[in-house]
Amino acid sequence: MSEKNEKPYPAIIIFKSKNIKETTDDLLSFSTSLYQYGYILKSPMEMRYSYTHENQIEIILTFIDEEHSKLWLDHPEIIKYYQNRFSKLIEPPQVIFYPDAYLEADDERNCICKSWPFILLSPEPFTDLSPFKCGKCLNHILLNKIPEAIQFEEWSVIHNHIYEIWLASGLLEKWAEKQLGKYKSELNKNAVKLIKRFYKKNRIHIYYQIWQKEYDNKNICPSCEKKGKETNMKKPLYACKKCFLAFGY
Ligand SMILES: [Zn+2]
Ligand SMILES: [Zn+2]
Repeated sequence: MSEKNEKPYPAIIIFKSKNIKETTDDLLSFSTSLYQYGYILKSPMEMRYSYTHENQIEIILTFIDEEHSKLWLDHPEIIKYYQNRFSKLIEPPQVIFYPDAYLEADDERNCICKSWPFILLSPEPFTDLSPFKCGKCLNHILLNKIPEAIQFEEWSVIHNHIYEIWLASGLLEKWAEKQLGKYKSELNKNAVKLIKRFYKKNRIHIYYQIWQKEYDNKNICPSCEKKGKETNMKKPLYACKKCFLAFGY
């Protein structure tokens, strides 16, 4: 597979319209459709009026790779539901590459491995990236490659909301900290429950990278308190096979 297929492709889609109100209505469920058909990493995305051009609506999103940023207009369902709406535009929608600081800083790539020795569940607040990382190449695994990822996805949305509550400090901060950091919190018990169900069905080990407030590189499993095995990663350093947890960084 070529290099361009390995990287998420952040972009803006530009819609030039004679009737901006009508176009806004026409586009309300558009990004959800793109997501549903597997073109973008996450939905919903930001839709805004252009700062610089009148009669222009912009949607900011991240395609799973560059190729998908070109293919979506040919998808039969997009043609069926949107061709008519797009024909009212001044010109066809335009996709423009729009670098994303988070993706650039970490040089994020998509995992293209055929199988995974194990998977890391590591939620990614503030990015569109999948919460799954490959245990072999250490890159993110696209959600549509993971069997029945929907429950994990719902879970990670909640995780990230709780993380934001913690970051906001003040009201509910202590509550959020417990949810994120205590092994037995409702949030964390739920993650392990999903992981165990996944393991039963797919026989692939997922390790949950449990949140730590401070750097703590001790090798003690937060659940059973025994020593974990070293991972091949810079972080988390250790994993407990029995408890499905990864920790230490
Ligand atoms: Zn991989
Ligand atoms: Zn353990």
